[in-house]
Amino acid sequence: EPIVVWLRDDLRLDDNPALAEAADSGRPVVPLVVLDEESDGVRSLGGTHKWWLHHSLQCFGKDLADKGAPLILRRGKASEHVVDIVESTGATTLLMNRRYDQASRAVDDAVEAALGSDVEVQRFTANILHDPDKVRTKTGGWYKVYTPFWKNLAEDEPRDPIDPPDKLASLDDQPRSDRLEEWDLLPTRPDWSGGIAAFWKVGEAAAHERFEEFSDEWLNDYPDGRDRPGDDATSRMSPHLRWGEISPYRLWHMAEACANRRKTIPGDALKTFKKELVWRDFNYHLLHNFGPLATQNYNDRFDAFPWRSAKSELRAWQKGLTGYPIVDAGMRQLWECGWMHNRVRMIVGSFLTKDLLIDWREGERWFWDTLVDGDIASNTAQWQWIGGSGADAQPYFRVFNPVTQSQRFDGDGDYIRRFVPELADLPDKVLHAPWEADADTLAEAGVELGKTYPKPIVDHGTARKRALDAYGEVKG
Ligand code: FAD
Repeated sequence: EPIVVWLRDDLRLDDNPALAEAADSGRPVVPLVVLDEESDGVRSLGGTHKWWLHHSLQCFGKDLADKGAPLILRRGKASEHVVDIVESTGATTLLMNRRYDQASRAVDDAVEAALGSDVEVQRFTANILHDPDKVRTKTGGWYKVYTPFWKNLAEDEPRDPIDPPDKLASLDDQPRSDRLEEWDLLPTRPDWSGGIAAFWKVGEAAAHERFEEFSDEWLNDYPDGRDRPGDDATSRMSPHLRWGEISPYRLWHMAEACANRRKTIPGDALKTFKKELVWRDFNYHLLHNFGPLATQNYNDRFDAFPWRSAKSELRAWQKGLTGYPIVDAGMRQLWECGWMHNRVRMIVGSFLTKDLLIDWREGERWFWDTLVDGDIASNTAQWQWIGGSGADAQPYFRVFNPVTQSQRFDGDGDYIRRFVPELADLPDKVLHAPWEADADTLAEAGVELGKTYPKPIVDHGTARKRALDAYGEVKG
C-alpha cells in the first residue's frame, strides 16, 4: 500500500525525515504539494514567495522524478486534496514534517481527524533544531528571552542529518496533478523579477553549493563580517531555509565539517553561526507558544501605543526615498533582490517604528510581500523585536541612529553606492548624511538634494525625542 508524503516548507530530498521514512519502507511513495490559499487563517503568499515557490517546485519536481516518484501538485483547500489523494491511491499512511503556526497546525489536525483511524499519520521534527514542546524552562514554562534559551540548548547537539534517498518506489497509476504553469506564480505585467533572478539560484543543489562557498570564504570572519552589508559575508541561506531546500541540521553539520577540515575557523565564528540558527528556532518557539504573533503585540501595553498613520512617509520608506542613504539602500536592495542584509533590516525597522512612528505591522506586511525569505516566525518575531513590543524585545528607547550605524557598518560606502547610485560620487565623509555636505561637494558629485535625491523626510534628533515621548505614554 502506498504512502503519501505531504510536503510543505520542506522542498528537499536531503535530511527530510518524512520522505526518508517513506523511502525506507520500500512501498510506493506519492509526494504531494498543495497550494492552499483557502483554509481558515492560512496566510496568503507574497509576490516574491510565489516567484521562489515556482522555481523551487521546478527543481524539486525534477529531483523527485529522477528518484522515481513524480511530484503531485494540487491547488485548493489542503484538507480536501490530501484526503482525496490518500483515498484515491488507497494509501494507508500519511507522513509530513511538522509546522508551527496556529492556522497550519489546525489544518494538519483537521486532516488527521478526517482520515480516521484506518490511516496512520506521522509528523516529524524536520525544519527546526529543537521541538518547541520539548524545550522548557526550569519552572516548566517556555523561554521568552533568547540568551537563556541559547544557554539551555548550547550543549544540546542536534541529531545527525539523514542522507537523501537513493530511490523512491512509485505507483503504477499516478493520481492527477496540476501543471506548475497553471498556478501562474510568476509575475507577468509587469515582470519585476529580473533583479531577484540575477541575485539568487533557487533549489536544493544551489543551497548546498552556496553554503560550501560561504563556509569556505566567509565563515572564519563571520562574527565581524556578518555586520558588513557591503560584503557578501553572510550565508544567504534564509530563503533556502524558509522553503526547506536545506535543513538546519545539515547546515549545522556542514559548518562543523568545514571548521574541522579547515582548522583555521575560530571556535567563536562557528559558535556565532550556530547561535543564529538557534535564534531562528527561538522565533519558531515564540510563534508556537504565542499564536497571534503576526498580528498582535506580544506585549499588550503596546496596544495603546500612539502609532501615526502617515501614508506618504510609509510610501517613501517602501520606495527607498527617505533621504537617509543607508535606509534607502536597504529598501532598494529589498525591492531589487527580494532580500536585505540583517544589519540593515534592523536599521530600516528602527527607522519605520521609531523615526516615523509607524506600526511595526506595516513593516512586517511589506517585508512579507517583498522578501524571498519572508518567514512566518522570523519576520513577525523580528518586527516585534525591533518595534519594542516583542517578547525578547530591543527596548523601545534604544533607537538606532541611521547615520552612525551607516558610518560604522558601511564605512567605505560600498553598499550605499551599489543601491543608491545617484549618490555614488559623493566622498565617504558625507555619503552617510548628504545634507551635511557643502554646496560645492554636492555639485561636484552631481547631487541636488530635493531633486536628484530627497532631503531627509524627518530630522532624526527630533524624531527620536518624539518616539521617546510616545513610549512614555505606554511604558507604565
Ligand atoms: P546568516 O547571517 O548567514 O545566518 C544564517 C541563518 O541564521 C539565516 O539564514 C537565518 O535562518 C538564521 N538567522 C540569522 N539571523 C537571524 C535572526 N535575527 N532571526 C532569525 N533567524 C536568523 N529572517 C528570515 O529568515 N525571514 C524573515 O522574514 C526575516 N525577517 C526579518 C525582519 C526584521 C525586521 C529583522 C531585523 C530580521 C529578519 N530576519 C528574517 C532575520 C535575519 O535578518 C535574516 O535571517 C538574515 O538576514 C538572513 O540572511 P543570511 O541567511 O545571510 O543570514
